Amino acid sequence: MYCSKCGKEIEDSSTFCMHCGYQIKADAPADNQVQTRSSKNLALTLGKILTMVGLIGVWTIVDVSLVIWHKIYLFNGYEYTKILCTICLLLMIGGSVCLIISLVKMIKNKKIKLQKGNFIFSLILLTLAFSNTVMLLINYFSFMKK
Ligand SMILES: [Zn+2]
Repeated sequence: MYCSKCGKEIEDSSTFCMHCGYQIKADAPADNQVQTRSSKNLALTLGKILTMVGLIGVWTIVDVSLVIWHKIYLFNGYEYTKILCTICLLLMIGGSVCLIISLVKMIKNKKIKLQKGNFIFSLILLTLAFSNTVMLLINYFSFMKK
């Protein structure tokens, strides 16, 4: 490797530059930065995956219901549509919580401009998850009343 101060070649294992005495280990904090960045992305990635799986699940149930029974069956349908709806509902709620956490972090760290695409995509996912969650909850409560 090369010394980051004087640019001369030094041994990979050395902790000090033998030419100028620069302490190589001073570069170590870069690892911490990478770690915090990846842990931030974990909430975002998890939020995206959970929300998208939940949304696709709900849309699939709605589509299949319309094609097969010509009526939308969610909680008012069969035992398995109830179970699938519950799973989708939990996925969307869990995903939304992860997305909100990572969005708040983005706003706090003023990284909206840096991650504009991620931010807008997360907002769209959140809106879709919210509207679909409301739809499922309305269906759930109107079914429970009967
Ligand atoms: Zn040096």
